[in-house]
Amino acid sequence: MNNSPITTSIFDLFKVGPGPSSSHTIGPMKAAYDFLERLRHLPEATGESADSIHVHLYGSLSATGKGHGTDRAIVAGLLGWQPESTDPVALMAMLKEPAVTYPVVVGNRTFDLGAEHIHFERKKYESPFANTVVFKLVANGNGLYEEEYYSIGGGFILRKGEEAVDQSAIQLPYKYQTMKELKTRLADHQLTLEQLMLANETAVTGRSTKEINLRIDHLLDFMHKAVRRGLRHTGTLPGSIKLRRKAPVLFQQARGLAQSSDSFLIFLNSYCLAASEENAAGGIVVTAPTSGASGVIPGLTYLAKHHFHYSKETLRAGMWAAAAVGFLVKHNASISGAEMGCMGEIGTASAMGAAFLTQCAGHSIEAIEAAAEIGIEHHLGMTCDPIGGYVQIPCIERNAMGAVKAYNAFLLATAGTPANQKISLDAVIKVMKATGRDMSTKYKETSEAGLALSATEC
Ligand code: SF4
Repeated sequence: MNNSPITTSIFDLFKVGPGPSSSHTIGPMKAAYDFLERLRHLPEATGESADSIHVHLYGSLSATGKGHGTDRAIVAGLLGWQPESTDPVALMAMLKEPAVTYPVVVGNRTFDLGAEHIHFERKKYESPFANTVVFKLVANGNGLYEEEYYSIGGGFILRKGEEAVDQSAIQLPYKYQTMKELKTRLADHQLTLEQLMLANETAVTGRSTKEINLRIDHLLDFMHKAVRRGLRHTGTLPGSIKLRRKAPVLFQQARGLAQSSDSFLIFLNSYCLAASEENAAGGIVVTAPTSGASGVIPGLTYLAKHHFHYSKETLRAGMWAAAAVGFLVKHNASISGAEMGCMGEIGTASAMGAAFLTQCAGHSIEAIEAAAEIGIEHHLGMTCDPIGGYVQIPCIERNAMGAVKAYNAFLLATAGTPANQKISLDAVIKVMKATGRDMSTKYKETSEAGLALSATEC
């Protein structure tokens, strides 16, 4: 277990960037950008004889990187692009022509980077994390300078040698690592969850409450823009599966059935599918906590805003409850499909969504904990086996299923006395970590088993 207190910012958990995968698209893009910056600060003599840059992808980045657009993200990062300002159409157009190269400018040198410089390695590589990428500056086939990065889920990256980041410099007003500690701080200081989280966020980022609130509103705007685009866009998603978008169909169906008891669920399904289909098409989404799971919370928050008419303030409080759950899972297990299978992505998103709904409805921290616990408990062991390495099947429908489960977790948790829930959130996160560790790598975002083998791409 990581023994330092939680210092993740809400804006690192919820990040704006291009789909389809936070660990395979946003993380590698950030790593490539970081490598570019490091190259630019090297002593000139180091790179004088260099003739090329090579990138080696290992583990799940190699196994499903093609379908996830990892090669495009790497090129974009080495061109100096950042996830939040990426033009998704230009990104999707990259590497379409195998012969085309892209100019990577380092000082007065320009390196031509093309598909031939990005290597999807099949051999086993000793690494502490499933998603590893190694960048090399090369002269006549010999490495002059290299950096190794790990994409650890949700777009978070670590550079080799920086695995244990020293957090001691951050003076947190309310330290916690577990839900038990978080509840103790709330009780001791008589704070709401939102007040505590805001105080810690200010300590971590230096931002004022006003600025933080504005940025949360913007995150919700980005999420809801993805939902609205997905409700409009029709046709077939990119890739060899030729999967047709379904969100607009469901949306029209729900509108036609407005008086039916099914309509509420169909509306929710359409919102979740809309954001997920945008993600699969490489559109701009918000990691929640990952890109693969970027339909659950946008769908639920869209529902909360447009059907329940919750105020801005209520939605923000709900986002803090969701963030608290995401922080706890990230800190004590992992939110990466390559580490945990889909329980780490959709399971976490569903638990965060359940916490969001419970907070918005004004329930206690015990009810929020119970809802999140139920959300994770009923995703334990869920495999990650995307067909063809595309974030489409089962991912898109799975977002809708995760949101529906989140809603039911909220209903179950808020009936009776939530404090009587037998399993704690901390306990289920421990189980999640152990289950992820025991799960065969075939079921952790490698597309080597399960559903990925059961269907023919056509
Ligand atoms: S199956 Fe789940 S974890 Fe795997 S890529 Fe799809 S959404 Fe992500």
